[in-house]
Amino acid sequence: MADTVIPLTDLRARTRVPAIPGELQAPTGEVIDRRGRALRDLRISVTDRCNFRCSYCMPKEVFDSHYKFLPQAELLSFEEITRLARLFVAHGVQKLRLTGGEPLLRRHLETLIEMLAALRTPQGEALDLTLTTNASLLARKAQALKDAGLQRVTVSLDALDDAVFRRMNDVDFPVADVLAGIETALKVGLGPIKVNMVVKRGVNEQEIVPMVRHFREHYGGQVTLRFIEYMDVGATNGWRMDEVLPSAQVLQRLQALSPLDALEHSQTGETAERWAWRDGRGQIGLISSVTRAFCSDCNRARLSTEGQLYHCLFAHSGHDLRSLLRGGASDEQLSTVIGALWRGRDDRYSELRAAAPPDDAPQQRRVEMHYIGG
Ligand code: SAM
Ligand code: SF4
Ligand code: SF4
Repeated sequence: MADTVIPLTDLRARTRVPAIPGELQAPTGEVIDRRGRALRDLRISVTDRCNFRCSYCMPKEVFDSHYKFLPQAELLSFEEITRLARLFVAHGVQKLRLTGGEPLLRRHLETLIEMLAALRTPQGEALDLTLTTNASLLARKAQALKDAGLQRVTVSLDALDDAVFRRMNDVDFPVADVLAGIETALKVGLGPIKVNMVVKRGVNEQEIVPMVRHFREHYGGQVTLRFIEYMDVGATNGWRMDEVLPSAQVLQRLQALSPLDALEHSQTGETAERWAWRDGRGQIGLISSVTRAFCSDCNRARLSTEGQLYHCLFAHSGHDLRSLLRGGASDEQLSTVIGALWRGRDDRYSELRAAAPPDDAPQQRRVEMHYIGG
């Protein structure tokens, strides 16, 4: 992992921020990057560990008993995360999503949620505070998460068939426990829930229709199923284009089941194309990260478990905010760095990949999904 520390002096030179903190340009306020995109969404990875070994994310052969996960002292503390989140919010972030690794493995996560739930936008509004989980621990933890102030959860689930699901999580975890987690989350008020299904051709494509049937029949509008194209994120999953099932083909299969109508995007930066069942029984989403790049309105920043800031899921290096935090930087200095980095952002990996012939696609070493969060 590259340890890119951008010295404050360099940033000042690049952004013409005066050297004396008292004279800083207003370090807060909305920031727009070089492609006109505002900063709205911060994804915070709270652990690089996971109890699953999904082959598309943490293949067992790489993430085995010898793999060195981050030691506790390297993780950002809850205080550090909250301090940074507050500064991001001052720069326009309205949505915080906790992720990982498996975020529910981070001990006392409810405490962090309470701290984040207390933050307010400059207009005094509460933030949209959510979490993405494999739901293995959700049935046990849903009530505490809700009580701490979490608003919603997104659950990842790739199959309803128990054998297929156990194979995909590669730790023999039963699907029934994930379904129980979804039930409990809905009961305690963590809905409506989004369920993310990564579709791999030849692996779980036969599960598309059963998943749709299950969630339409049991939950109507309370659960929105979203189909994610298998992405070439990281460098360990052995990604191949022929294993991607394009969203257009998923849509064809769904239309054959029951008619769907396209919906308008509800907000800028939304990654899913939304479709509504014509019979009124809810919606589905298609996340076409490979076949239809959505970089042009990507408004997300990502904070890794150890405090590296990334501006793209496919970035090959981050910016080390932890060194600044632990080196005694003031809020003003941190805020200036966060703003300056976003203003300099030019990332659009998926667009470039789509435009390049396969052999010329960007090939730099990239961070792993379990480290940066989805
Ligand atoms: N462990 C949690 C979970 O699985 O929900 C949160 C972290 S996980 C990295 C976040 C999301 O990334 C999940 O929905 C997962 O399916 C998705 N993901 C991981 N690797 C992927 C890949 N190669 N392509 C597409 N989605 C991927
Ligand atoms: Fe774990 Fe989530 Fe990655 Fe699966 S997708 S290995 S559950 S972090
Ligand atoms: Fe955003 Fe990077 Fe994905 Fe484009 S490739 S949508 S910039 S995360």
